Amino acid sequence: MQRISHWVNNKVVAGTSGNVGKVYNPATGEVQAEVDLASVAEVDAVVAVAKEAFVTWRATNLSRRAEIMFRMRELVDANRKELANIVSLEHGKVPSDAMGEIARGLENIEFACGIPAMLKGGYSEQASGGVDVYSIRQPLGVVAGITPFNFPAMVPMWMFANAIMCGNTFVLKPSEKDPSAAMFVADLLRQAGLPEGVFNVVHGDKVSVDRLLEHKDVQSISFVGSTPIAKYVYETGTKNGKRVQALGGAKNHMLVLPDADLDMAADAAVSAAYGSAGERCMAVSVVLAVDSVADALVDKLKSRIPNIKVGPGTDPAAEMGPLISREHRDKVASFVTNANAEGAKVVVDGTDKAKDAGFFLNPSLIDNVKPGMKCYDEEIFGPVLTVMRVKSYQEGLDTINANQFGNGTAIFTRDGGVARQFQFDVQVGMVGINVPIPVPVSYYSFGGWKASLFGDQHMYGPEGINFFTRGKVVTSRWPDPRTSSVNLGFPQNR
Ligand code: NAD
Repeated sequence: MQRISHWVNNKVVAGTSGNVGKVYNPATGEVQAEVDLASVAEVDAVVAVAKEAFVTWRATNLSRRAEIMFRMRELVDANRKELANIVSLEHGKVPSDAMGEIARGLENIEFACGIPAMLKGGYSEQASGGVDVYSIRQPLGVVAGITPFNFPAMVPMWMFANAIMCGNTFVLKPSEKDPSAAMFVADLLRQAGLPEGVFNVVHGDKVSVDRLLEHKDVQSISFVGSTPIAKYVYETGTKNGKRVQALGGAKNHMLVLPDADLDMAADAAVSAAYGSAGERCMAVSVVLAVDSVADALVDKLKSRIPNIKVGPGTDPAAEMGPLISREHRDKVASFVTNANAEGAKVVVDGTDKAKDAGFFLNPSLIDNVKPGMKCYDEEIFGPVLTVMRVKSYQEGLDTINANQFGNGTAIFTRDGGVARQFQFDVQVGMVGINVPIPVPVSYYSFGGWKASLFGDQHMYGPEGINFFTRGKVVTSRWPDPRTSSVNLGFPQNR
């Protein structure tokens, strides 16, 4: 059985805790590897290595750091396919979809190559007589990233590229469900010339997360995962004095107005709902069909579903793979199975596929969904698209704003004025106008509102740089014996 171990000082380090997790092939349901789960002592040892490496790394000049990140960019680019296959084998998403995640992650590495230009501070000459004032940004120290199963390559790239380019050293705790992508990326960083101890991977479960949250030498926590854990990580990390950005779950609504191009809206909804088997935090999970469009839109959605080819990543024709685990597959299926009893209408039931080996479901479509039903109130995170019928734009907007989550949303319309009003009014962090999955490009920042993000700074882009640095302001005067005197008054800028 393949064993996946930790990555410390640019090498694989075998676990010593005796605890292991099972890594499945979701397409067959079989265990294909075991992953070491770190003990408190093992986490402490990794943090100690990162702490020591920080001393030299923060002093490494910016052009040298950029040179390494540029090389990393080339290495990820050259190894896209291999990384996509690793992701596909453990996560289940088809390789073509995994290629998309790598492309979007790579954009974060490309952004990080240019960080020297963004670390420039301000300078005010002659703020007072002979006095200059300037600002600089410095790294935090050892920073940690805790990542979810659904983007095992991209989400770590959201974090480590900015973190290490800003001069921090990094400890990644990837999802124990698909840990191999992190190891592959770690080895690419080694090949790129990253010094030992700057990027480390510790595999684990709650034990290692809790240790990172309380460790006095860990300065910040970047977390992406489900809302209950994000809230816990935020509360525990900040209580222990750490800077925390914790991104949580989602329920993304797509509002379709009567003037929208319905075929375009249906194509977009189907792609965004069922891509990656719905296991995307930016997946569309609710279509809000306004007024007269509902019947036609539901028909168009329904007619597209049989064309979706569900199968393992090894089948080049497959467009949608299995879910991550048996438990998750069963939970997702239960939302569909219970929907009719809750008063909704199951238009397409994809749960039959659960009989197959592997953790498969076919796409499902549920109409007449309302707040108060489980399939609306909870994040499903699977290939289930729900439709809620609303009477007006206003009712659609109010529904979105009343939802506990605020990660992504989209409006489909030809009316620029309404779209602009929507962007003004909607209480959601990432908004698409005729764009169903509005993941911001790497030079903006990614993050939701409400229960989709705990903390002040969004992930990557300019806010990522703020998150991974601390500001310092220097007030400086070069000694001039002619102006020296004793003066106990508070300094004034005269
Ligand atoms: P998860 O919350 O179960 O796990 C995320 C991380 O937390 C993993 O590394 C896991 O090991 C760790 N963890 C799990 N339980 C823990 C506990 N009790 N204590 C401490 N640590 C714990 O999430 P997941 O199932 O891996 O990922 C899916 C979720 O992530 C979905 O809710 C999805 O919406 C969300 N997500 C959000 C975003 C975003 O940007 N907002 C992006 C991707 C995924």
